[in-house]
Formats: sequence, structure tokens, C-alpha cells
Amino acid sequence: MRHNIPKRTFDTLIIGAGGGGLRAALQLSEAEANVAVVSKVYPTRSHTVAAQGGINAALGNVSPDHWHWHMYDTIKGSDYLGDQDAIEYMCRAASQIVYELEHSGVPFSRLDSGKIYQRAFGGQSQNFGGDQAERTCAAADRTGHAILHSLYQQNIRAKTHFFNEYLAIDLIQNQDGVVLGALLLDIATGEPLVIHARTTLLATGGAGQIFRTNTNASINTGDGIAMALRAGIPIQDMEFFQFHPTGVAGKGMLLSEAARGEGGYLLNSENERFMERYAPHAKDLASRDVVSRAIYKEVHEGRGCGPNKDHVLLKVNHLGAETILSRLPSIRNLALTFLKMDMIDEPIPVYPTAHYTMGGIPTNRFGQVVKPVRHGAEEPVPGLYAVGECACVSVHGANRLGGNSLLDIVVFGRAAGNHIIEYLKNNRYHIDLPEGCLDQPLQRLHRWEKKNRNSETIPEIRAEMQNVMEKYCGVYRIESLLKEGCKKIRDLRNRLSEAGIDDQSRVFNTSRVEALELENLMELALATITSALARKESRGAHSREDYPERDDRTWLKHSLYSLDGSLDYKPVRMKPLTVEAFPPKIRQY
Ligand SMILES: Cc1cc2nc3c(=O)[nH]c(=O)nc-3n(C[C@H](O)[C@H](O)[C@H](O)COP(=O)(O)OP(=O)(O)OC[C@H]3O[C@@H](n4cnc5c(N)ncnc54)[C@H](O)[C@@H]3O)c2cc1C
Repeated sequence: MRHNIPKRTFDTLIIGAGGGGLRAALQLSEAEANVAVVSKVYPTRSHTVAAQGGINAALGNVSPDHWHWHMYDTIKGSDYLGDQDAIEYMCRAASQIVYELEHSGVPFSRLDSGKIYQRAFGGQSQNFGGDQAERTCAAADRTGHAILHSLYQQNIRAKTHFFNEYLAIDLIQNQDGVVLGALLLDIATGEPLVIHARTTLLATGGAGQIFRTNTNASINTGDGIAMALRAGIPIQDMEFFQFHPTGVAGKGMLLSEAARGEGGYLLNSENERFMERYAPHAKDLASRDVVSRAIYKEVHEGRGCGPNKDHVLLKVNHLGAETILSRLPSIRNLALTFLKMDMIDEPIPVYPTAHYTMGGIPTNRFGQVVKPVRHGAEEPVPGLYAVGECACVSVHGANRLGGNSLLDIVVFGRAAGNHIIEYLKNNRYHIDLPEGCLDQPLQRLHRWEKKNRNSETIPEIRAEMQNVMEKYCGVYRIESLLKEGCKKIRDLRNRLSEAGIDDQSRVFNTSRVEALELENLMELALATITSALARKESRGAHSREDYPERDDRTWLKHSLYSLDGSLDYKPVRMKPLTVEAFPPKIRQY
């Protein structure tokens, strides 16, 4: 089939303008590569803008610190599923990358000495499990906002080419599996556009919208992860989804861990500081999976607060107005807006909320996407890279520590940029787009031109999927519910394939975008619940009531989910780059 679709040609196509995509773009544009960054929203509206608490680096400005301690905490936090080479690389790079951000204009909060302010966050320790460390560099509680805006401005200066409000539909590949760019949809006009590139980087963020109550932006629909899956790349560790302990109760918006880092704590209906029972040492600053489970238990054992006993309270009012106004201004505003409550005066109702996609597109520490080949080996997919929340490198393993994702996106954004520069040197010419390479991506696009007034609507199916995931694949999981949920998601996927979109031409393009996004979400919901059903142990964020223990003998391995629904596994990379490995230990906080 021949198509008459406009085409633009670049050295590198970057899909996603969050912190990951923009950090990679900056590296490339500054090296004079010709870079296109595509984003379905205006770049500074990417979800990175919402990051509140901060970015981790062992600067040691407040308490003594060392990258090696940071590495230990990250591996322990990951419940030993993180790959130790990538974790060492990230923790060692952290200080330099934070200074780079500082020099590119990020207005970090300051100590009286003038050094960058650092706060305590969950799972941080000195000296391999000793006293609490203060490792999270913050710009008040708007760190992501500051980082994203600085990176965007630096990219404008470096003349990165932006395609704003374009939706990437699918990757374009040739018969040899080389990735040659992507098919896009111009959201404003509804016209397709091909970007032909020598390398393509996916930086499309997480998939928090598979759950009803979540902290994510409505655009976090896991598009890049689903695109990789459709391109024949098995996706990794999808059963590991982080629930953040302190979402606004009943609504899900995030109240950053910074609130507890600054000295806030949780209370149940008996006015008890219950985290002391669950994590005697770290208390409210235990790892997120631990705190989320504790809240869930308190509520389900009848010690929840409020008329329905369905939440616990986050108390910060003892910190005083001055600290709250200078260190936590945005989360105070969130509570004022959504709860009509002032944290300065009273404790705030909170409950766990879906927050972060630990799984995603498997990569090595250079950002190259990898795929299994014969005999358990894996190889890079030529021309394809992934960084940020859509990728699984894997530095977060079964549970991410707060402040490590902003670090992940800039460290691996830069690393991928550097590797792409080398790749471009060794692959000087564009490979022609072969005939027929657009057939499949176009089919997907045209499928949603069908208007069908009688069918179910896309928002109805989306809401049902989110409810099923929350109920059947939440903080605690059990075989019977997972099985039932899996069946329900399969049914919903069938119903989606029968559905059409609204017949109002006025909203036609946005409806089409929502339909395409829901297709992505549905694949990832199925990947998540299928992987969760198969993993018969409890590790990090994946807690099985029927298999409450971690089982390293059988399950110290990454899962790989393929489009046909099958699962495979691969070993964790336990060998760091230069230091000794941290072998699995019992995880206590
Ligand atoms: C409320 C909140 C607070 C957080 N706070 C912290 C924190 O304090 N510290 C920390 O370390 N982490 C935090 N996190 C996590 C962290 O912010 C994110 O994991 C990280 O910013 C993700 O960056 P990213 O570059 O991977 O993707 P994002 O910033 O999510 O950007 C994704 C980009 O991809 C584009 N895109 C997606 N799909 C398509 C498509 N089909 N076509 C075209 N473009 C597309 C989007 O337009 C966007 O530009 C927080 C997360 C949330 C939700």
C-alpha cells in the first residue's frame, strides 16, 4: 500500500517532553544533532511538572552521606529486584547531575550556609541502614516544576525542534526490526505525520491511569510502553505498581512524602502514631510499600478515621505555619482546594493512591531497549531507546524510593543522549522506509474513524477498567480476585474492540485521542494483572495475601510479558560495576 502522508526527517525522534525526554534532547541538541521532540501536550505540562518532594543525591549538605549508602538504600528499597549495575551508575552520577541542574537554572531551596537544601525521605539511611539520612534536594515542594521549566528553556536555547500536541501512534520498523521513527497524529488538525529518524527514544512517562484513584495526570496512559509491546518487545515487571501512602482521601491527589520528611506523621482513629508498630526504626519514613500496607491494615481492622472509618490522618500542624509555608506551600494549597482544610490548623485525611509504574520497557543502563533472543540472551533493538518512567532499567525494582525518579529521568536521559550520539556517528545514513511499514500504524489510526452511536462510550469503558484494576489488583492481591479481574479486563478489551467513538465532529479529535489512549491502557492493565497473577510471592509493592513471604529461590527474577499474553522471566543483574554486590536480606525498616 502506498500512502501520501507528509514526512519529516531528523537524526533523532524523542517521544515525550517530560524530564527524561528533555534531558536527552538537550544532550543531543548541544552536540549539534538534529532533534525532534514530540509531546501530546505542551512540554511544560508533562507530568514531571507535578513532582513535589525532590531529587536524591548524596551531597551530604545536612547529614553525612555517600553514594554507596544511597545505592544500598535503593537496592533494599527495590526489595532486591533492582539491577545493581544500573543502581550503582545512577547513585554515583547523582551529585554531578544535581549540580548540572543547579547551573542550568533550577532554583533549589537553600540552607543558611547557601548550600542546596536537603530533606529526609522514606527509606534513606546513613551507613548502610543506620540513622535517617537527609538526601532529597528540593525546590520547596515544586521541584519537578523547577526542573522541567529549566530543561525546556535550555532546549529552546539549544534549538531543539518541538512538535507540540502531536500524538505518537506507533513505531515504524523495517523487516530486520530496525526502528525508523513513528507515525504521529496532529491533534489539532487530525492529520497524520511521519517522522523518519535514525534513532527513536521513548520517554512517554507512566501509566497511572489504569487505576481509578491515582496521583497521575490524565495524560499518563502508558502510550510508549504499549507501543513497544505492539512492536514485539516484551515488557518488564508490570506487576510492580507503587501505591503512594498519602493521597487526598477519596480523591487520590498526591500529598508529597515531603510532609513526613519535614516531620509530619500518621494517626489512626485512636489517635495512635501507628507506624511505630509497623516500622519501629524508620516509623513514618519507612518505604512507601510498607506505609501503604500499614494504612490499608489500620482501615481494614476498623481503626480508620471519619464517619466511614475509611482513611487515616496526616498531621503536620505541629510543624508551625512558617515551616509549612516555606517548605510545603503547594501541598497546603492542594488540601485547601480539594478538602477545604488548612494543614496549618488540622490533620488531613489521607489514603493510598496509585502513583508510579515501576515496570516498563526493558533497557540497559545506556537507555538501549533490549529484547530476548535465543538461549536466554538479550540484544538491543537497533535504533530504539527508552528512558524515564516508561522504561525499566531497572533501578526501582519492586518498589521505588521517593526522590529516585526525578534522578532516574535526568541520569538516564543524559546517558541515552550520550549513547545516541555514538550510534549516530556509527550509523550515518537514514535507512529507507520500506513499502508497507505504515500499514499497521495507519490501521490503528483509521480504526477510530468509525463512528458508532449505539456502542458503549470510551469514557464508560475506561472508568470500568479503572474500577476493576483498583478492586482486583490493588495494594493487597489474592489469586481468586486476580483471576476474576483478569477475566474482566479481557472482556473489557473485547468490548473496546467493538466500541466506536462519539459522533460529534466538534470533539472528534479529542475522542479519537482518548480511544487510542484507552487501547494502550487496556493492554497495560492486562499486562499488570496477568503478571501479578503469575507472581506467587510478596515483594515490594506486589503483596499477595496468599503468598505473604518473599521467595528468592523461585522469584528473584524479572518478568517479561508479551503481547500474546505469555510470560517469561530473566535474571536480575546482581553484579554492580565496581563495588561488591548487596545480596538479598530480610527487609526491615
Ligand atoms: C504528583 C506526582 C509527584 C511526584 N513527585 C516526585 C518527586 O518529588 N520526586 C521524584 O523523584 N519523583 C516524583 N514523581 C515521579 C516523577 O515525577 C515521574 O516519574 C517523572 O517525572 C516522569 O518523567 P518522564 O520524563 O518519564 O515522563 P513525564 O514527565 O510523564 O512526561 C511524559 C511525556 O510524554 C509525552 N507523551 C506521552 N504519550 C505520548 C504520545 N503517545 N505521543 C506524544 N507524546 C506523548 C507527554 O506529553 C509528556 O511530554 C512524582 C509523580 C507524580 C505523579
